Amino acid sequence: VRGAVLLVGDELLGGVTSDRNVSAIARALGPRGVALDAVEIVGDGEDAIAAAALRLAAGRDLLVVCGGLGPTEDDRTRHGMARALGVGLREDPEIRAGIERRLASRGIPAAAAARQASFPEGARPVPNAVGSAPGFRGALRGCPFWVVPGVPEEAREMVRALAEELPVPEGLAWERMIATAGLGETRVALALDEAGFRPPPGVSLGFLPSPGGVRLRLAAPGGVPSPELDAAAARVRAVLGDRAMPALSLEESLVAALAGRGATFATAESCTGGLIGARITDVPGASSVYLGGVVTYSDRAKTERLGVAPALLAAHGAVSEAVAAAMAEGCLRAFGSSLAVSVTGIAGPSGGTPDKPVGTVWIGLADGVAVRASCFGFGGTRDMIRERTVNKALEIAYRRLTGNGE
Ligand code: ATP
Ligand code: MG
Repeated sequence: VRGAVLLVGDELLGGVTSDRNVSAIARALGPRGVALDAVEIVGDGEDAIAAAALRLAAGRDLLVVCGGLGPTEDDRTRHGMARALGVGLREDPEIRAGIERRLASRGIPAAAAARQASFPEGARPVPNAVGSAPGFRGALRGCPFWVVPGVPEEAREMVRALAEELPVPEGLAWERMIATAGLGETRVALALDEAGFRPPPGVSLGFLPSPGGVRLRLAAPGGVPSPELDAAAARVRAVLGDRAMPALSLEESLVAALAGRGATFATAESCTGGLIGARITDVPGASSVYLGGVVTYSDRAKTERLGVAPALLAAHGAVSEAVAAAMAEGCLRAFGSSLAVSVTGIAGPSGGTPDKPVGTVWIGLADGVAVRASCFGFGGTRDMIRERTVNKALEIAYRRLTGNGE
């Protein structure tokens, strides 16, 4: 079953807004057996919208149009769809009354509502549970279409609700994702190749590299029996051993590992400025294992908050093995956690020296038994170096807990 998405908005073409809706739409439709095979972006012009809708609807089973439903003159999607359908716009009195009631309670004149209450003749309004503009649905030359608002929360909620109508094909699966850590794309590919791994028929293997590690995606656009996809995923995990992570993100894997051992965690961050703590607290339930963190950016903060001896800082510099270790130890003490991680490094673009170039990062780890620090030389921009540091720190903590060494 093939679907397409048409995004509408001058702001998307102008680079003012980045799309956040296609992935949500694809992920709502995937489990229903609808695979997107085209996405197009057009500006807020009636003709462009009509032409693109007709083109995308041809030969497909579903078209999702997204954006341009607002109350202002520059939102042209309803007009564009009416043109594609060869019909006029007609106001829906019930919808209009509903919008008017809502606007009146906020003191906005009702005239503003009229536009959002009109739909191409023959189309049916779709309620918007989390925003003002209703969507609408119908069929364009035999292809069912859904028109949903552009605001990501509204688009996601409406598509989720609409997708619920589609049957879930029984016993089939489309996708399995496996996160890895500590191996680059080439090494992962090589390991699978050497082990003779081949995806089963109808399944493709995709490599999705990121600073957090390579994610592997087994994808079956047409759907295959779930046990086949599960067996392929299990085989990949077996080949990769402890480089395959239990959860899709490092922070989830770490939180689960901490929770499973009744362990607690704390962080002392310099060059990452709290990003490690932010990632951990992204995980629901992190409160049971994460006690807290400090951002000790200056030397003084390292001394005052973590008890790093000034003499140590003077002798080795803030970016050093001795200071990373002392930070981790001080953090463990300060929070009374069972595990603490520290990072101190040079994220650039300035501040590098010949013996400590930009990208030099020390990551310390203390667990009450031992304290140690490891040095990394990360490449890339300031943002990339910081992200790689966060990921490596999460991975180091995870591996210490699970005992499959760094
Ligand atoms: P509403 O009437 O509920 O505001 P709408 O259909 O009018 O929704 P638009 O006017 O096109 O939507 O856009 C509303 C907001 O949503 C804008 O800030 C726009 O930049 C943003 N937006 C639109 N499309 C997308 C998209 N694909 N991804 C992320 N943001 C989007
Ligand atoms: Mg718009």
